[in-house]
Amino acid sequence: MNLIIAGVLAPLAYLLLRLFFKSLVISFLNKVKAQSEVKEMVSCYECGVFIDKNDAIKKSNQYFCGKKECLRNV
Ligand SMILES: [Zn+2]
Repeated sequence: MNLIIAGVLAPLAYLLLRLFFKSLVISFLNKVKAQSEVKEMVSCYECGVFIDKNDAIKKSNQYFCGKKECLRNV
């Protein structure tokens, strides 16, 4: 009985542990990667204010902030 437990459960537990640690390491690496990602900043073509590139509005190869005055002439 003990042999069966050792022969079946031990490798199974080992595999599960390996999977568990692997997913831990992967999620840890993804976290580090996400944190180290530097946000790209662009300046508004109209007023020159710096904004996150994701928030900037791109029109005809120029970046604009969200202000109405800046987008009026676009
Ligand atoms: Zn602007």
